[in-house]
Amino acid sequence: MKTNKLFYADTHLAEFSALVVDCFEGKQGFEIELDRTAFYPEGGGQAADKGTINGIEVLHVHEDGERVLHRMPQPLPIGETVEGTVDYAHRFDLMQQHTGEHIVSGIINARYGYHNVGFHMGWESITIDFDGIIPPEELPELERLANGAIYQNIPLKIWTPSPEELPGVFYRTKRELPWPVRIVNVPGYDSCACCGLHVERTGEIGLIKLFSCVRFRSGSRIEMLCGQRAFDFLSRNYEQNKQVSAAFSAKLLETGDAARKMNGLLEEQKRRIGELETEGFRAAAARCSGLGDVLLLREGLDSVGVRKLADLTAEVCGGTAAVFSENPGGSFAYCLLRKGGDLRSFNKAMTAALNGRGGGKPECQMGSVRCGREAVLKHFVSFSRPE
Ligand SMILES: [Zn+2]
Repeated sequence: MKTNKLFYADTHLAEFSALVVDCFEGKQGFEIELDRTAFYPEGGGQAADKGTINGIEVLHVHEDGERVLHRMPQPLPIGETVEGTVDYAHRFDLMQQHTGEHIVSGIINARYGYHNVGFHMGWESITIDFDGIIPPEELPELERLANGAIYQNIPLKIWTPSPEELPGVFYRTKRELPWPVRIVNVPGYDSCACCGLHVERTGEIGLIKLFSCVRFRSGSRIEMLCGQRAFDFLSRNYEQNKQVSAAFSAKLLETGDAARKMNGLLEEQKRRIGELETEGFRAAAARCSGLGDVLLLREGLDSVGVRKLADLTAEVCGGTAAVFSENPGGSFAYCLLRKGGDLRSFNKAMTAALNGRGGGKPECQMGSVRCGREAVLKHFVSFSRPE
């Protein structure tokens, strides 16, 4: 039986009563057919409505030919009148996103001739894919135009032209569609074939925020949000920026500058610390001059630091430079270096004795050992310790 789709007559209808026409057990629950429904079934790029029937949660709503089926966790008696409640906040959000998407697609189609070739409605953002390159620098202008449609609070015109009318009706499509075609028209902005649900007037969208425009396949992908969700997202962003502003003691609209300055400062300090570290390494290496095999124990050096100190030391000590740096976790990063030497078997014996692993070029063996400081000192007892 053909279900009377109340949602097309009134997209703002949330409460309704209906007769249970059929009820049967499906694979994922009980499928309930009503004589009429305000629940929008999944389709046309729009998700199914959520809500309850007789207070019981509706799991999914889908179309089966001309009838709409409501998936429920339990059966409902055929012939009984039931009360349906659509989760209106969820529905309204979907309508805000959907009509907003039409307006943006319409503007882009009119401006560049590109078509919407993909639409994804996620929670964090919705994306629209177009079959051409949209210059990202034009995003603010596109956003301004889209929001202009909202400020004008234009009533949407949704209709199904007669077979005679249809050929004369313009709508955004890549190919001619067979009659009947439901046209969703935002006068001045867009005309598109669509079976989804839309707000009655553009003002209900409230806000359209375009976040990004990036190359996607051979075209572009626009990321956006509309309505309450856009507002909430921007509010959360504002909250974050307030924290950044307080942390940097910068004005709200100057946090980017403050962050860049801070990054520059950090880079400069990193460079300076690197210089000081190298100076310290040179001084430590100089104290090892001519001592032959030496052991240097340090703390807090990473593998790059350990390598650098070993390099400088091996240049002047005339033997093997063994540099160990203790980590807070109770292990040591190490580097064994002997100019022109082959430390592979020495390294193998050492890692076996000190519970470690490592390797590298014959003259330079690096890795880590997990043992106590005393064990390291004991293993390298024949090495000089200049400090
Ligand atoms: Zn649509």
